[in-house]
Amino acid sequence: MTAKTCAACDCELDASLIKVKIGGKTVEVCCDDCARKLKEAHGSAATSGKG
Ligand SMILES: [Zn+2]
Repeated sequence: MTAKTCAACDCELDASLIKVKIGGKTVEVCCDDCARKLKEAHGSAATSGKG
């Protein structure tokens, strides 16, 4: 199985996947929106946001 999935929404990734660095690690997401979600989730530690 070499199918990759979005690190944010777990949907299947196409050839138009986006690579984003999170905490020194490179993850792949399906769209720029998911990339932002991961960045925000990683950056906001003090903010109270459980989901
Ligand atoms: Zn996604």
